[in-house]
Amino acid sequence: TAMRLLVIGGGFGGASAASFARRTYPEVQVTLVEPQPRFVTCPYGNLLLGGERQIGQITHSYDGLRARGVEVIHDRAAGIDAPTKRVRLAGGAVLAYDRLILSPGIAIRWGAIEGYDEAAAQQMPHAWIPADGSQTLLLRRQLEAMPDGGVVGFAIPGNPFRCPPGPYERISMVAHYLKRHKPRSKILALDAKEGFSKQGLFQDGWRALYGDMIEWVPGNRDGRVVKVDVAERVLETEFGTRHKVDVANVIPPQSAASIAAASGLVNDTGWVPVNTRTFEARAAAGVHVIGDANIPGPMPKSGYVANTTAKQAVAAAVALHRGQTPPEPVYFNTCYSHVGENYGISVVGIFRPNADGTAIAEVPNSGGVSPRGDLPEQRRLEAIHADSWYDSITRSMFG
Ligand code: FAD
Repeated sequence: TAMRLLVIGGGFGGASAASFARRTYPEVQVTLVEPQPRFVTCPYGNLLLGGERQIGQITHSYDGLRARGVEVIHDRAAGIDAPTKRVRLAGGAVLAYDRLILSPGIAIRWGAIEGYDEAAAQQMPHAWIPADGSQTLLLRRQLEAMPDGGVVGFAIPGNPFRCPPGPYERISMVAHYLKRHKPRSKILALDAKEGFSKQGLFQDGWRALYGDMIEWVPGNRDGRVVKVDVAERVLETEFGTRHKVDVANVIPPQSAASIAAASGLVNDTGWVPVNTRTFEARAAAGVHVIGDANIPGPMPKSGYVANTTAKQAVAAAVALHRGQTPPEPVYFNTCYSHVGENYGISVVGIFRPNADGTAIAEVPNSGGVSPRGDLPEQRRLEAIHADSWYDSITRSMFG
């Protein structure tokens, strides 16, 4: 009988896995479980905040996967029983599988910042898990409603978190919007870290495009936000400084999505340790965990990595089911960021796991970041490459 591949989560990892499985192994029966009727991408959500995209342009249907022969079930996985190879859905159904791909994404660590709970997120959006897009749209509406001369505050977490350059692209895109519509406004970026991805490139771009609009405060200068006061619209840092802002985007500390913890897959970091060649969870045979939920060694938590590792996880799952050796993997990442109009930058990494699947290392002398300097044509081309990347990865997921 046909191998049954069950995929939980229809985002960057899960949709990529389902599509790749159908394209590559037509004999495999693929079922995808995802609660949302449509998928809103985090990537390019920052451009929506900047006024450069509409929500419809970053929303994707599952019809393409259905047309490829994937059975798509809109429900939520409530429990995984790895020994009997069964998944229980919130709606009551029980699905049996031969191999499971789990890509449920992240959860917010509510309460890790004092006062930041689900109710607070309705006033100070995180917009870091798009779900139905409502968080990103809320933040956009708050920016639109803010008077010129207001302060937009950001709280940015320590590592690891979803999309290392994401907060800084968001700062850029908010600055892009403010410069056009509310040029007397300021951005106060409070960061738990002392440095960040593509920092030199971002800060060059900020100075060139936005002058002194953006103030970034690192962790060693009291940038770590530990408390929010929603009623007063205050972000409070480690040493008790209270920053009053007009709009607050709180990007809180994160962990693997709740289904991973509920199924006993996470360790004390809150993320899922995996075999780096097959992505099988250390804690459960036959359960391959990809995307942001796992611990990917030095690889960033990115949609690109979720897509590239999805392919290896599917190939490994099929090989192991057939009693074969999984293929030799290599993992790629490119993270593009838009700093302004016609202004893109990137970081590239190439990674390989070690022989026994216990670690991943960046391939020496590979990858790197865009060159620094006054290079308008380079920036213009990279903005175009970024748009092409978005089109091709979403086609690889949903097409
Ligand atoms: P997701 O894509 O979040 O998918 C998880 C899915 O699982 C969701 O659809 C969810 O509904 C579903 N799910 C959760 N729990 C269950 C359950 N119990 N049962 C069934 N389904 C469940 N990455 C890039 O490569 N390039 C970028 O330019 C980029 N920009 C970004 C910008 C922002 C603002 C942010 C926040 C992120 C960005 N990222 C980018 C990162 C990228 O979005 C993530 O790395 C990627 O989404 C991870 O894929 P995933 O499959 O782990 O999670």
